[in-house]
Formats: sequence, structure tokens, C-alpha cells
Amino acid sequence: MNFTLHLTADCDLACRYCYEKHGPERMDEAAALAACDLLFSFGHKTNGFSLFGGEPLLCRKVIEKTLRYAAEKNWEIGGKLAYRMTTNGVLLDEDFLDFADEHNIMIALSHDGPLQDEQRVFKNGAGTSEALEPKIDMLLSHQPEAVVMATFLPKNAGRVAETVEWLYNRGFSRINTCIDYRPEADWNDENMAELDRQYALLEELCEKHFDSPRPLRYLNFESKIASYLNGRPCIECRLGVKQPSIAPDGKIYPCNQFLNDPRYLMGDVWSGIDAAAQRRIFFEAQKPEASCEGCAIEQRCRHHCACLNFSMTGDMHKVPPVQCAHERSLIRHADGLAKRLYESGSPRFMRVYGNNG
Ligand code: SF4
Ligand code: SF4
Ligand code: SF4
Repeated sequence: MNFTLHLTADCDLACRYCYEKHGPERMDEAAALAACDLLFSFGHKTNGFSLFGGEPLLCRKVIEKTLRYAAEKNWEIGGKLAYRMTTNGVLLDEDFLDFADEHNIMIALSHDGPLQDEQRVFKNGAGTSEALEPKIDMLLSHQPEAVVMATFLPKNAGRVAETVEWLYNRGFSRINTCIDYRPEADWNDENMAELDRQYALLEELCEKHFDSPRPLRYLNFESKIASYLNGRPCIECRLGVKQPSIAPDGKIYPCNQFLNDPRYLMGDVWSGIDAAAQRRIFFEAQKPEASCEGCAIEQRCRHHCACLNFSMTGDMHKVPPVQCAHERSLIRHADGLAKRLYESGSPRFMRVYGNNG
């Protein structure tokens, strides 16, 4: 089982597309350790935490204390324990990366490549790229396979391929992108068409580097190709069960975007998960989205993500049109890439995907 620990809503940056309502709340040690006790109380052998914010590294002491405590509990049961952390990278240093190595924390860096200074800024509006340069080297020296995630405002839709190429040339090989999904983001037909052209360019870029010694792994395409070949859904939303979210005050919610909404409260780290609330939320999320009935690519689309739907439309079953258009475009170009690789006889493509389908 996994918990997402929302260590704080606070952040040292003020990115242009941030949806987080920043506030001073921080999870204290008592709540974090109680979350740990609760996680292990379910008796699973495989457990994990996602360390999330705001910026999780603002709570470094709590992270270190919690993970040491979790490691002891895990040792007692002889289990497996894994952590993920998404960070803006500003507070990364060698000491923390040594700690991450020791505790097997997979770090994902949010970085917008050539758009970093425009989109990801300090609170005084200054760009962050200079501060991040040494952090990138440090991170990649510890975790060469670290994932980097870039986000795009609608006005920068035409710079997706350039950004992926920049990140690849900077040393990242596992790259993901997402678009600004805030309800107020102004996606229109024109910038969606531009995005589609960018994914066509990414087909070429991924093909060019697919069999190189350091392959470019564009994770958006990879997940769509894999889901086609193995016949499994691209994501399965087991809302409230897969990855409950713990707020800084120790209250439990079904997932990130439901945090602090009393309609979705599922208990707290001291009294445990309210099984009736969890069941109600889980089954509510399993109802199909009426607008997707009969869609040929339904299994490969991320429309199941209750969080995304809820944050954009206020209804976990109502898929925003921009999400539908975006998923169609991604799937079309993922298929375009798979066709190119298959037809060219790419050795890595046959190795990675050859046993599926
Ligand atoms: S680093 Fe994340 S939490 Fe902080 S401002 Fe940027 S998007 Fe928001
Ligand atoms: S709401 Fe989205 S992020 Fe949360 S469990 Fe469902 S698919 Fe995953
Ligand atoms: S592509 Fe659109 S209609 Fe099809 S499953 Fe996704 S959101 Fe629904």
C-alpha cells in the first residue's frame, strides 16, 4: 500500500501554472510517524510513500525522521519499501541525495528546460534556471535515471519538442511533459493544434534516439504504447484505495485533488481509515464516464483520473474537453512512433515490446 504525504502546501517558488494554494501548514513529526504506523498496520509486505508538497524539501527533517522510522518497521517485517519524491530541486544537496540513495527515494525533478526562467520563478519573480544548473548535475550523478517533468502554459504549446530535446541534451533520459490543467488555462483550438504538431515532432525525436546508448524515453508515449500492446488500461483509478493522501494535519483524503474537501474526508492517521467512507468513494469513482462510452481508445486514455476531472470540472466523472483532445493527440502520436519503430525493425523496440501483443 502507498500513502502520499502532503508534507506542506508551502513552496519556495511561484510557478506561473501552480494550482497549489500555498499556506504555512507543515506536517509535524507526530503526524508523519502516525501515518507510518497506520501504513504498516495493514500488514502488507510492500509499502511506499510519495513525498509531496508544495515543496517537500521544506520539511526535510520530518522526511529524514519518518523514513528512518519506516525503515525500522520495514526491517521488522522483512518487507519492501519504496519512496518517490517530486521536487523543484532548489533545496537538493549532496547530503540529501546520499540519504535518498540510502533509502531508495526515487526523485522526480520538475524542470521546464528552456522555459524554466519564464515559467518557474522565485517568489520575487526571478528565474530559477541558474540556481538549478548545479542541482541537475548533482541529481544525475546520483540518479542517472531520474525522471524530469516539464509543464506547458497554453502560450508555450509550440515549444514542447524543443523542451524535450533540451532536457535530453542536458542529460535526462526519462522525460515526461504535461500541460497546464488549471481550469483557467486558456487552451483553444489553435494551441491544441500546435500541441498536436509538437507531438508529431516528438515522434521523430524519439525515433532518432530510441536505439542510442542513452535512449530517449518519453514516458507519455511509452505508457500509451505499452497499454495498447499489453491490453491493460493506461491507468487504473482505484480512488481512495491505491494511494490515499495525508494532509499536513494528518487527515486522510482519497487522492491529491480532494485534499481538505470535507465531503471526501476518509479518517485521520490516528483513528485510521473510515472503511465506509473509503468504500463509498471507491465505488463512486468506478462509475463510467458517460461521454466516453463506446470510445475506441477508452482503455488507453487517462480520463479515469478522478483527480484531474474533479480539479477541472468539479465532477470526478466529467472529462474536460481539453483532456479528451490532449489524450487523442498523444495516443495518435504514440501509435505513430510505434509504427515507425516496428517498420524500421528497431532492436530496442523488439526487445522491450516484442513479447507483448
Ligand atoms: S514548485 Fe510546484 S508547488 Fe512550488 S510553485 Fe512550482 S508548481 Fe507550485
Ligand atoms: S485520482 Fe488520478 S492520481 Fe488519484 S488514484 Fe485516481 S488515477 Fe491515480
Ligand atoms: S479520448 Fe475522449 S471520449 Fe475517448 S475515453 Fe478519452 S476522454 Fe473519453
